[in-house]
Amino acid sequence: MQINRHYLDLKDSYLFATIAKKVNAYQSANPQAKLIRLGIGDVTLPLCQEVIQALHGAVDEMAVKETFRGYAPDEQGYPFLKQAIREYYAGHGVKLEENEILVSDGAKSDLGNILDIFSEDNTVLIPDPVYPVYVDTNVMAGRKVLFMDATEENGFLPLPDRSVKADLIYICSPNNPTGAVYTREQLKEWVGYANEQGAIILYDAAYECFIQDEKLPRSIFEIEGARTCAIEFCSFSKMAGFTGTRCGYTTIPNELVRDGQSIQKLWLRRQTTKFNGVAYIVQKAALAVFTAEGQRQIKENLGYYMENARTIARAMEEMGIWFTGGEHSPYIWLKCPNGMKSWDFFDLLLEQANVVGTPGAGFGKNGEGFFRLTAFGDKQSTVEAVERMKKLLK
Ligand code: PLP
Repeated sequence: MQINRHYLDLKDSYLFATIAKKVNAYQSANPQAKLIRLGIGDVTLPLCQEVIQALHGAVDEMAVKETFRGYAPDEQGYPFLKQAIREYYAGHGVKLEENEILVSDGAKSDLGNILDIFSEDNTVLIPDPVYPVYVDTNVMAGRKVLFMDATEENGFLPLPDRSVKADLIYICSPNNPTGAVYTREQLKEWVGYANEQGAIILYDAAYECFIQDEKLPRSIFEIEGARTCAIEFCSFSKMAGFTGTRCGYTTIPNELVRDGQSIQKLWLRRQTTKFNGVAYIVQKAALAVFTAEGQRQIKENLGYYMENARTIARAMEEMGIWFTGGEHSPYIWLKCPNGMKSWDFFDLLLEQANVVGTPGAGFGKNGEGFFRLTAFGDKQSTVEAVERMKKLLK
């Protein structure tokens, strides 16, 4: 009997555990300290009323023989929800077929599980710093990982280097942790590169709902040529507060073929074999996000977070601190002042301002010297936190 020994190659993730340990130790030693947490990557506002009503309605349907639902359909998502997602995409100029959208329990599972359908011999290209799931899921399969440097110089938006050969390319825009967003022209370069190489772009659009400027692409499929080289992952988590409710969707165009095989058909085969679909109740809740009233309500919540983001971004500008994000993203990625290292800045903020953030070094080697603040906190606390930071760093 042998285990999958690639799991032994995984680096332990100390980031959030170390943060919790440091915060708890500080709070025990200073019980009177009023800590403000601007490190949270989870949403904090409750589900909107439209979604709650849909959930109640769907629960009642499940209580009646005539409207009770068992296993979800094999197509991975009820037609009512796929149709609504299609219309949502059409709203930003992207035409999709219903069968190209596959509903799931979130972007994280799909980003990890999609690797089942690709050879372990593929080389993957991953930005550094980035959401750690991309690296770990590939390490688990023993795949070779190449990193592309996201730095202050390129605004944390690396572009293709044609001397590098890769089969799978991860792009996350708006990015976690840097909040940086690719422009249409920049994504065109990636699409051109992927098509030349026969590579596939795994495009993580989990934060597309935070994009404020219509000129910035919300979907890779807004870019000509993307239908032959990209898969898009999206989620209701940040868009509508579904982090604990769980629903997402992955889009694979009919034209995406490699090795003579339809990638979408392989993914459908994988999903129907290993996944029995998203709860009917949850899909009805997701549908409610797309009604006119649902859209109005989720935009109110997103607006609340974006106001926090602006509060933090404005404070950075006032202090003359270099940063990315905050405009089309709930994340503000700042350069630690005076050349400080990420963890030293973490300690300084914790001890001198009682503000908790996330050290950039936890997201990859290029994150050293940077720091992530998030807009998911409470409005009053966010205002108070930046006042404390301004006092400390002036
Ligand atoms: N992708 C990115 C970049 C994220 O930051 C997250 C969650 O924080 C996810 C995907 C996961 O989303 P979901 O809740 O849909 O699994």
